[in-house]
Amino acid sequence: MISNMKNIDFYIDAIRSRAEEFHINEGRPLSYFIRTFGCQQNDNDSEISAGLLEHMSLEAAPNIEEADVVIFNTCSVRENADRRFYGNLGNLKTWRSEEKQRRIGVMGCMPGQDTHNSVLKESFPYIDFLLNAGDMGNLPRALYESSSQKKHSIVDLTDQAKEMTYPSLPVKRENKHRALISIMSGCNNFCTYCIVPYARGRESSRDPLVILAEARAAVDNGAKEIMLIGQNVNSYGNDMRSKGEKDFPSFARLIEEIARIPDLSVLRYMTSHPKDLSDELIEVIGKYETIEAHIHLPLQSGSNRLLKKMNRRYTAEHYLELVNKLRSARPGISISTDIIVGFPGETEEDFEDTLRLMETVKFDRAFTFIYSPRSGTPAADWSQNVSDLDIQERFERLLDLQNKHSVESNERCLGKNLYVLVSGLSKTDDETFSGRTKDDRLVNFSLPEESETDDQILTARGKPLSSTIADGSEVFVKITKAKAHSLEGVFVGLA
Ligand code: SF4
Repeated sequence: MISNMKNIDFYIDAIRSRAEEFHINEGRPLSYFIRTFGCQQNDNDSEISAGLLEHMSLEAAPNIEEADVVIFNTCSVRENADRRFYGNLGNLKTWRSEEKQRRIGVMGCMPGQDTHNSVLKESFPYIDFLLNAGDMGNLPRALYESSSQKKHSIVDLTDQAKEMTYPSLPVKRENKHRALISIMSGCNNFCTYCIVPYARGRESSRDPLVILAEARAAVDNGAKEIMLIGQNVNSYGNDMRSKGEKDFPSFARLIEEIARIPDLSVLRYMTSHPKDLSDELIEVIGKYETIEAHIHLPLQSGSNRLLKKMNRRYTAEHYLELVNKLRSARPGISISTDIIVGFPGETEEDFEDTLRLMETVKFDRAFTFIYSPRSGTPAADWSQNVSDLDIQERFERLLDLQNKHSVESNERCLGKNLYVLVSGLSKTDDETFSGRTKDDRLVNFSLPEESETDDQILTARGKPLSSTIADGSEVFVKITKAKAHSLEGVFVGLA
């Protein structure tokens, strides 16, 4: 599986020998802890890093303090993630100096950016290694080189290519029922507010046969849901086709192949860029029940003037046309979006264009953000013409409108029996289960009162329901309450 990675086998074997020797000498395994910030791409990179570390005989530690190797998988996109990470790293100075074999690695979006790279090296010289986002293929080498040094210096491998370099690596999935699979990395779009193309490099698509094999293996191992991830999944394969591989499949063809895997219940994907959402893909979304009845389609703004400034390369009219096509290809599809408020230069008219478009589309859900500059992006140098107070006021108007639409959308589910893929017990109540519908609504549900049920409902497959329903169970839930961000209901049966 990993033999075609140049030199990787050498580093893997070397680290495995060291880990086994450590185990014999210390009477305990060499252990690791990974702290992940940011998006699902980072979650998946951490799952692969964990799989690779365990392939080299390291074992997971319950927390940072008890680990021998600590890896931070960083994010510079989500607000505050960089500050929280620097705080975490600062706390480890004493920890690192207490035991000679301890190691600290930093990967993800930050080390490959010049500003962060300098801060990391100058302010935190006790770090051991730095890797580019998604460069798990170099993790064994980074560990090997940093533990082979006579005198400490930071092993900086961020000069390696930012494009995804691994064909397939071992993976340790956080959720058995839900498999995250990266289909590509990087982004070519250079939206003027976004740091991703600088942090993760240009688009690079993984081999479709490897992706398909990983998807089949995940389902064979019990996954009910697959989430295909990439910064812009709709442009999957463009890089390969432009290099002359004319038959490299489009995202539509890839998702269609995966949707046909027997025993797969839900196929999700994100993120879709409106400019690359093709008719071919819309047709496939309409054709397969397994493909979620939901699409996340970031709008960002309803003003054509601002969309141009953001370099989004579509218009509000084109976006509306896509929504109409999606709704006629897949009636009832839920549409979620991202919207930025207070982008530099946003006027009241621009903002009202956004509200108008929201009124027309009536998004089922929206992730709304107040613009915050990312250093290194063009928009970070543009001046803001609106006061913080006015931006906050716009944000609240937008939130009110979206909450109204979200509640209306969820109210349409009242009284229905919906399929729910369970993710476990609710975070706030250990008598309530949580899960998601095929159209990606969060559902919290309870078991019916004993007096309302017969024995068949209270037991499933011969066991009490409360112990049968778990992460990965497929159930039907009768919806009894609609809120802006979730539904509530009562279990009616196993799916
Ligand atoms: S499409 Fe735009 S917002 Fe999305 S990752 Fe690429 S540059 Fe960033």
